[in-house]
Amino acid sequence: MSTVRHHINGAEAGEGARTGRIYDPATGAVAREVAFADTAEVEAAIAAAREALPAWRATGLVRRADVFFRLRQLLIERQDDLAAIITAEHGKVLSDAKGEISRGIENVEFAAGLVHLLKGERSEQVSRGVDVHSVKQPVGVVGAITPFNFPVMVPLWMMSSAIACGNTVVLKPSEKDPSASIFLARLFEEAGLPAGVLNVVHGDKVAVDALLDSPDVRAISFVGSTPVARSIYERGTAQGKRVQALGGAKNHMVVMPDADLDGAADAAVSAAYGSAGERCMAVSVLVAVGDDVADALVAKVAERVQGLRIGPGTDPESEMGPLITGEHRDKVASYVTGATAEGAEVVVDGTTVEFDSDGFFIGVSLVDRVRPGMRVYDEEIFGPVLSVVRVQTYAEAVELINANSFANGTAIFTRDGGTARQFEIDIEVGMVGINVPIPVPIGAYSFGGWKNSLFGDSHMYGPESIHFYTRSKVVTTRWPDHTPTQVDLGFPSNH
Ligand code: NAD
Repeated sequence: MSTVRHHINGAEAGEGARTGRIYDPATGAVAREVAFADTAEVEAAIAAAREALPAWRATGLVRRADVFFRLRQLLIERQDDLAAIITAEHGKVLSDAKGEISRGIENVEFAAGLVHLLKGERSEQVSRGVDVHSVKQPVGVVGAITPFNFPVMVPLWMMSSAIACGNTVVLKPSEKDPSASIFLARLFEEAGLPAGVLNVVHGDKVAVDALLDSPDVRAISFVGSTPVARSIYERGTAQGKRVQALGGAKNHMVVMPDADLDGAADAAVSAAYGSAGERCMAVSVLVAVGDDVADALVAKVAERVQGLRIGPGTDPESEMGPLITGEHRDKVASYVTGATAEGAEVVVDGTTVEFDSDGFFIGVSLVDRVRPGMRVYDEEIFGPVLSVVRVQTYAEAVELINANSFANGTAIFTRDGGTARQFEIDIEVGMVGINVPIPVPIGAYSFGGWKNSLFGDSHMYGPESIHFYTRSKVVTTRWPDHTPTQVDLGFPSNH
C-alpha cells in the first residue's frame, strides 16, 4: 500500500513511524496510508522554511507575481487531475471538486495582484523637511493547518496571500485527504516557487503542536472545528504568535412570508445537501417566519429531495457523494435518530436509506419543529441534515440567530428591500446573504465568521489576509537640506 509522505524543501520526506489510514469514502476501503510527522520532522520543515525566507523575501515583487500568474494557468490545465484526487479521498462529486478549485483560483488571482497589494503609504512634509512612509514586511514563517472538507480551496486561502506577502509556509493539511496538498506544493514549484518556500507535513496533534510551539513560526492560520480552533488560538497567542483560527458553523436561512418560496426551497436544498452538508457555509437551519411559510417550505423541500441522486463522486450522475468516514456518518445519523425523542418531527429520514455499497453513504434528512435546546439544533452536524425552526416574526428570527454561539454565515430570503437592509444591520454574523444561501465572499473580499466561528480578529484571504501576513513599519525621514539645526530636548511636535 502506498504512503503519502511529507514535502520538505522541494523533496519527498518522512519515514512514517506512525501512519494514518486514508479511505476511499465511496467504497469504505483503505486506499493508502499517510505518514504522521513527529516533532523532529516538523522542525525540519520549519528549518527549510526559515532558510528559504531571506531569498524569497528579497525576490522582486514582479517576479513573485509571475509565480501566481503561472500557477493560475497550471491549476486550470490540471483541474481534472486535481479534482480526481479530491474526490478519491474526500468523496465529493467531481463537479463540486472543480467548484472548490475554481474558488481557490480566485485566491491565486488576488495574490497575483501583490505588487499593488503591498504598496505602502507616504506623506510628504509632515513637518518642515520631514517625510513619513509605511512599508508592509513579511511576518516570517507561517504555519497553516487545514480541515478535510476543502483540501484545495482552504490551503489556497492561506498559502496564496502568505506566500505573496514574502513569507514562507509549513502546511499541515487534514490527515483524512492529504494528497491534494502535495499536488498543490508540486504545482507551486512548477510555477517557479523556490524549494523550501512551501513545505507540507502530515499528521495529527503532534505535528500541530510542533508548529504552535516553535519560536520560528510567527503566525498561524487555522480552519477546522470550534474546539480545536479555540485551543489553537489560545496556545498560539500565549506564545506571542498572531493567530487566526476559523471554527465551526450553524448557518441559518430565514424565509420571510413575501419570499419566492419555490426559489427559497431550491436554494435551501442546494445549500443544505450540496457536498453532503460538509461545508462550513452549508445551510443547516431553515427559519420559517409564520406557520404557513413553514408548512409550504417543508412540503417543497421534501418533494425536491425525493429525486436526489446519491452515489460515488466519480459518477457524473451523482449529485451527492458519501461522508468522509464511517464514524462521521454514524454520528450524523445519531442526530436524526435522536430528534424525535427531543420533540422534533423527522419528515425525511435519510438514515433508513439503503445503499448497495460499503461506502460511507447516508440519505438526506429534513427535521421539522426543531428548537434551541435540542441536540439537533445546538450542535454542528456537518452532514446532510436540514432542521426547520418555526418562528412567528422577523424579530424572533433575528433573536434566534443572534443567540446562537456560531456566527459564520446566514441568509434572508425576502422581496422587501427594507427588511433585507434591516437584517444586514441587525444580524450578528460575519457573512450575510440576501436571497443568496451560501454567501462566500469573492476573492477580493475576506472570509470569516464572528463569535465561536472565528478566534482572532483577521478574516481569511482578500484584504484582511494582507494585513495578517505582513507587519507594517513606519519610517520617519529627514535628509540634510541646508536648514539650520539646533539642540532641542523638547518633545518633537509637528504643530
Ligand atoms: P478538525 O478540527 O477535526 O481538524 C482540522 C485540522 O486540525 C486538521 O488538520 C486536523 O488534523 C487538526 N486537528 C484535529 N484535532 C486536533 C487537535 N486536538 N489538536 C491540534 N490539531 C488538531 O476539523 P475537520 O473535521 O477536518 O473539518 C470540519 C470542521 O471544520 C467543521 O467544524 C467545519 O465547520 C470547519 N470548517 C470551518 C470553516 C470556516 O471557514 N469557518 C471552513 C471549513 C471547515
